Amino acid sequence: MALDNKNGANVCDVAGCDKEAERSISLKQISKSSLKLKDPNVRSAHLCKEHYRTFKKDTKTSRELDKYY
Ligand SMILES: [Zn+2]
Repeated sequence: MALDNKNGANVCDVAGCDKEAERSISLKQISKSSLKLKDPNVRSAHLCKEHYRTFKKDTKTSRELDKYY
């Protein structure tokens, strides 16, 4: 399978992942999570189901941490 998604195919943008993307998240949001992208210069990243879950978990955790401080 081709790794570049210039043809518009929705592939997860997380480094090392080539699963089908389900969500598009802005880079600002991504930077709040621990996810690392294949291309750090994109404006928004596509995430597969699995990485979207990781993203949600990460951002939720940081929000909860904020409450403690
Ligand atoms: Zn993924």
